[in-house]
Formats: sequence, C-alpha cells, structure tokens
Amino acid sequence: MNQKYRGRLAPSPTGYLHLGHARTFWAAQQRAKIFGGELILRNDDLDSTRYKMEFVDAMIEDMHWFGFEWREGPDMGGPFAPYKQSERMDFYRAALGKLRAGNFIYPCTCSRKDIQAAVTAPHASEDEVIYPGTCRGKRDECDVMREADTGSSSRSTRHAALRFRVPDGETISFIDENLGLQKSIAGKDFGDFVVWRNDGVPAYQLACVADDAAMQITEVVRGADLLVSTARQILLYRALGFVVPKFFHCELILDDKGERLAKRHDVLSLRTLKEQGNTPEQIRAGWGGKPAGS
Ligand code: GLU
Ligand code: ZN
Repeated sequence: MNQKYRGRLAPSPTGYLHLGHARTFWAAQQRAKIFGGELILRNDDLDSTRYKMEFVDAMIEDMHWFGFEWREGPDMGGPFAPYKQSERMDFYRAALGKLRAGNFIYPCTCSRKDIQAAVTAPHASEDEVIYPGTCRGKRDECDVMREADTGSSSRSTRHAALRFRVPDGETISFIDENLGLQKSIAGKDFGDFVVWRNDGVPAYQLACVADDAAMQITEVVRGADLLVSTARQILLYRALGFVVPKFFHCELILDDKGERLAKRHDVLSLRTLKEQGNTPEQIRAGWGGKPAGS
C-alpha cells in the first residue's frame, strides 16, 4: 500500500513562535518534501485560558515569513476542515464515546493539577507526576460522561475528569523514524492519563490522536520531549482502532549550558529575530544547515 505522505504542523497559539517551534516545523516540512507529500496546518487552540487571537494571526504570519508552506489549514480550509481544534468537538466526543464503550476510561475526582494541565502537550516531562490510580475502581457512570457525549457540559460546573487506564507493566514500543527503537513502560514511565478534563475540555492526548487520525496524518514530527506522550497516544490509537502513524522525534535544541531552549523564558521569538534584521536563511544557517534530527 502506497499511501501519500501527510504531515502536520500543530502549533498552540499561546505565545509567539520561537526557534524551537521553527526547528521542529522545519524538520516536518523537510520530511514532507523528501516524501513528496503534503503538509497541513492545525491550530491547537483548546487551551482557551492561554489562547489569544493575536497569537493565531502572528503564528500564521510568522510561519509564512519563515518559509512554511501548507496545503490545508485554518486560513484556507481543505478536505478535513475545520483545522482548529476548538471547532472539532464532535470528533473528540465520538472518540471519547468509543473509549467509554470499550471500558478504557474511568472518572477521576481528584483535584489534581495534572487535570488542569492536560489540555496542553506535556513538553516539560520533568513536572509530570504518575497518577497513583486513586479513582481506578470508580464506576463508569459519572454524569460527566453523559454530558461529554451530549455536549451539554458547562464549563463552570465541577465534575469528574476522565482518565485512561494504562496496561500496567506493558512495554509500549515503536520504531522512531529518527531515533530508532523507543520503549516505555506503562504504569512506570507514565500512569493513567487524563483524556477529558473536569470542565468539559478534551485533553491534548485525545484531541491530538482524534485529529491526526481523522486528518489521515501518516507521520507525526514532534520534539523528543513528547516521546512519552507518543507512547500514551499509541495506547489511544489502539483503543480507538485507528491506524498508528509513523513518528519522527527531533532532538531538542539546547543552549550552551545544556538547557532546553523551549524552557527558557528569554528564548527569542521569530518576531524578535525578524525585527533584529535576521532572515530565515540566516536563522537556518545557525542550525548548521541540518534539519532537526539529522
Ligand atoms: N499543539 C501541540 C504543541 O504545541 C502539538 C504537539 C504535537 O503533538 O506535536 O505542543
Ligand atoms: Zn482520581
């Protein structure tokens, strides 16, 4: 079977794009080019507390400036529209319904920080705590599920969040297209994760899988800081009966002290670099001409 390569750029409009994004996205674009495939742009705007419209406009402008080209996206539409997550709730509810029918999830009433944080990709893995499974025994009949199904959940009411029960002790492995064989152990490297927040917002892990599958993405290019999330997502693909795409994880850019660029507060945005007179070509030359990951 020779399926056409489809990759995606999936920024979250919670700030200006910086070098870390540019590098990963550039790798994604290179991969799409190598395979003669297509690239789509998706606006991952589920985090309504941090999302700002000005960042969406800036994101698209900065990406054009840097030389990114996409064939489908929020600014131009396409066969898999809409390309912004806030308009794709039906897909997430359908996926949640499947997880529920397969008994993969359970309601969790712990008021933990990770429930709130679940809407964004957990790039800073060092902050993650493995959920001890406190609510695992809870019955699958919480009202949040019915409301999530019907879409009537109001953001102001406090309900249970929904967690995916991971197969403790199982090694989740995949061959990364850049880094080779990757393994992580469910219950040890990551625990039961939130798929639906207690305020009715789908979590990053579920939204990402539902979209990448629906948009027929054949390869996901992302930073190596999301390796463990990829393992979680493989479990979701499996539970949902979706075809697992290929993965290409880029090494993270570190500064001269070895700290991750994306973590630094003073990291330069593409806007600032542009204002300082840098061209995209100069910025890429600073990467040593290599795409991330090579
Ligand atoms: N919107 C997510 C982010 O910015 C996407 C991560 C991914 O799945 O590639 O981190
Ligand atoms: Zn709980």
